[in-house]
Amino acid sequence: MIEDKNQERTPLSHLGEFALIEHLTKNFKINHTSTIKGIGDDAAVLNFKDKKVVVSTDLLVESVHFDLSYMPLKHLGYKAVVVNLSDVYAMNATPTQITVSIAVSNRFPLEALEDLYAGIETATQIYNIDLIGGDTTSSNTGLLISITAIGEVEDQKIVYRNGAKPNDLLVVTGDLGAAYMGLQVLEREKEVFKVNPNSQPDLEPYTYIVERQLKPEARKDIIKLLEELNVTPTSMIDISDGLSSEIIHLCKQSQVGCDLYEEKIPLDPAVISVCEEFKIDSTTVALNGGEDYELLFTISQEDYPKIKANPNFTVIGFMKEAETGMHLVTRAESRIPLKAQGWKNFNN
Ligand code: ADP
Ligand code: MG
Repeated sequence: MIEDKNQERTPLSHLGEFALIEHLTKNFKINHTSTIKGIGDDAAVLNFKDKKVVVSTDLLVESVHFDLSYMPLKHLGYKAVVVNLSDVYAMNATPTQITVSIAVSNRFPLEALEDLYAGIETATQIYNIDLIGGDTTSSNTGLLISITAIGEVEDQKIVYRNGAKPNDLLVVTGDLGAAYMGLQVLEREKEVFKVNPNSQPDLEPYTYIVERQLKPEARKDIIKLLEELNVTPTSMIDISDGLSSEIIHLCKQSQVGCDLYEEKIPLDPAVISVCEEFKIDSTTVALNGGEDYELLFTISQEDYPKIKANPNFTVIGFMKEAETGMHLVTRAESRIPLKAQGWKNFNN
């Protein structure tokens, strides 16, 4: 929200496209033997030997998916990578390479793109992936970022959305709803700032939820943990649109039903208290909020002893025959059909 007037602003026109690409990508190193050729030719060249390859793409559009008034560009670069990697982990695969394509207007100086790429670089280091290419073009208004992530996995370890069976347990990692409530806090502070530009927001009490919104992590650790525990989920998906819509995806693709227990949904105490402050029901937030980037998966009952003592996992329900439908079992033990509230970007 606070713009530093002393910051240098080098117009992109000073560099030209090729110098810009060279400038932004010169520090990136190649770490994987599967990357034979990265940036610099007409196409990258990869070699995965006998592994299967997974590919996933996301497109992020300014003022639809992000708001630069409270999203620093460095965080945006980091988040844009992380949300893609989350899709690769959701296949039980390990990400190895990304491409990054940007469309940028002349509103952005070189320094802004340097910040964006600093965030991208941090993500490539933390998640150990190679940047192997992309495309750079101009846009008339906002910023667009499209990232493609590539990953590898052994054939028999790939986990699809369609493998859940009746009686499988439904398991979620971490806790839900924090990123959505972080966004509510940031939106509120933005409105306050519009009225009084001298106000300095005190985000201290909201550190956890704001961080979940601005700097999410993908659950790389869970893929490793599942391997160590010798658990291969029967189905898996990452939570980007809210628990409810992701459960519906697993159920529809696997042709099963589900009972989800409200009392089991994992919530951080910070989410519970900020929901009280905003007078929003925390279950609704967990079901429909989105951007949690946790993993949601099903396991067969015989694998339950392997995961039950682990604080990373919460069993939140179980799968049933398709005919019984998909329900939330509330604390009062009433049964409410699950609804998908995803695609919220198209509704406003
Ligand atoms: P072409 O004209 O064939 O599209 P470019 O000049 O756009 O090639 O790209 C040259 C090289 O730089 C290619 O390896 C491409 O993948 C890479 N590249 C282009 N834009 C980006 C970007 N924004 N981030 C990373 N790599 C990029
Ligand atoms: Mg190009």
